[in-house]
Amino acid sequence: MAEKVLQVEHLEKSYQKKHVLHDINFSVAQGEVVTLLGPSGSGKSTLIRCLNGLEVYQKGTITFEGQKIIPTEKNWQQIRQKIGMVFQSYDLFPNLTVMDNILLGPTKVQKKDKATARSEALALLKSVELDDYANAYPRELSGGQKQRVAIVRALALHPDFMLFDEVTASLDPEMVRGVLTIIENLANRDNMTMIVVTHEMNFAKQIADRVLFLQDGRILEQTPSEQFFTAPQTDRAKVFLDSMD
Ligand code: ADP
Ligand code: MG
Repeated sequence: MAEKVLQVEHLEKSYQKKHVLHDINFSVAQGEVVTLLGPSGSGKSTLIRCLNGLEVYQKGTITFEGQKIIPTEKNWQQIRQKIGMVFQSYDLFPNLTVMDNILLGPTKVQKKDKATARSEALALLKSVELDDYANAYPRELSGGQKQRVAIVRALALHPDFMLFDEVTASLDPEMVRGVLTIIENLANRDNMTMIVVTHEMNFAKQIADRVLFLQDGRILEQTPSEQFFTAPQTDRAKVFLDSMD
């Protein structure tokens, strides 16, 4: 059994009076790819954001690499360097070049030597076929290219764990494949541990070791991928899968 990298126990989250996550329990092993599926509004983004310290939660514990995370901002700043996150809206800084967007974390947060950080960034850009765009500004890139830069920016911090929240949802269809391929390579070639929220069911089928199915803020299923897609255990999951065809 591979080592558990992340463990979530009895997590409860409310926004003001709205109770959004109920008794969330799961763990992720080293190298595992988990897809988080569920209807819109089921709490996927909220859960992902809790895992990266972007949301406060009311109850429960999150343990990362064997350490219980105390949810203070200072603590999260440390952990966040090890947990990369990419959202639907690639929030690149518009006034910085692609290279400077990528260098910000390694040089300002991690105090890495600039020349080293730059050569690492270039290698990462090359791996997503964007090394020619190092000096371009975000406005000069397509949505798909921007999202590839956002992934590179997260990887430049050498995370142990990646969170992807619907990273292709706002892309034109012809841009989607390129971004998904990068995530697939990360999973298969680099053995990156990750949680992926996606509406691309074929991609989820291919990439996932395990599926967490969320509905109304509860995990209704935690199932090995092949089982989830062929024989889901709950009617809710069946309805969900039928709606995605
Ligand atoms: P999903 O990502 O699965 O679509 P979300 O986590 O975005 O779901 O939302 C879960 C629920 O929490 C929804 O009912 C949504 O309206 C609510 N919600 C999300 N963000 C906030 C917020 N900042 N304030 C209040 N309610 C929120
Ligand atoms: Mg969401």
